[in-house]
Amino acid sequence: MSLLQVENLEVFYGAIHALKGVSFNVEKGEVVSLIGANGAGKSTTLRALSGLVPCRGKISFRGNDLLIVPSYKRVTLGIAQSPEGRGVFPQMSVLENLEMGAYHRQDKAQIKDDLEMCFGLFPRLKERVWQMAGTLSGGEQQMLAISRALMSRPELLLLDEPSLGLAPLIVAQIFEIVKKLNQEGMTVLLVEQNARMALKISHRAYVLETGRVVMQDSAQNLLNNDEVRKSYLGI
Ligand code: ATP
Repeated sequence: MSLLQVENLEVFYGAIHALKGVSFNVEKGEVVSLIGANGAGKSTTLRALSGLVPCRGKISFRGNDLLIVPSYKRVTLGIAQSPEGRGVFPQMSVLENLEMGAYHRQDKAQIKDDLEMCFGLFPRLKERVWQMAGTLSGGEQQMLAISRALMSRPELLLLDEPSLGLAPLIVAQIFEIVKKLNQEGMTVLLVEQNARMALKISHRAYVLETGRVVMQDSAQNLLNNDEVRKSYLGI
């Protein structure tokens, strides 16, 4: 059984048919990427997984039918999203943002351990623990958004455009950390416009085009695929 199995996902925004039957799966321990041009439906797919947009089709997570689980409860099943645009709480401190990620948990000792784990991954956040999140740099906010998601101890981490608007050095650091998290056992579903970076740390990927999966393969094969190189890697 796959950790996540998505079948025939359809999403409408009013008259706009944003997802037209998207199917894919994620196995435990994998990094899987969804790549594609602007408007292909990548973020919409993640929003559907988190329950932020109504959808049709089937989503099964650890064998549970996700579509009957309200959005706020999906995190308790083990899904956490770091959203596009980061979505940190700007008027709250770094620490308070991190605590929000663990709001449904009672295990105080482990929460403390997880805080230390986040500070280990992103020492910058430890230095800025009392700073208002709204005053962090873009890269620091991205670190905070990922850490806030990690504070729920997810089994599946959904990352929406972690590279968006960040300087290349920070992007490289963030991807390195995603790779490390995966090596330590985290399963990751990554949405990225930076297809090259995404494919480099992924096991497999799906290419989306106007609401449909048009290609799926191992990341290595996609990196070598002429069509992908021309359309998404700028080669
Ligand atoms: P990007 O890389 O630019 O973020 P994406 O692949 O993540 O693109 P989505 O944001 O999922 O694409 O958008 C898919 C389609 O749905 C687009 O045509 C977009 O205009 C449309 N769409 C997204 N959100 C809404 C909304 N709230 N209302 C109406 N249409 C929307």
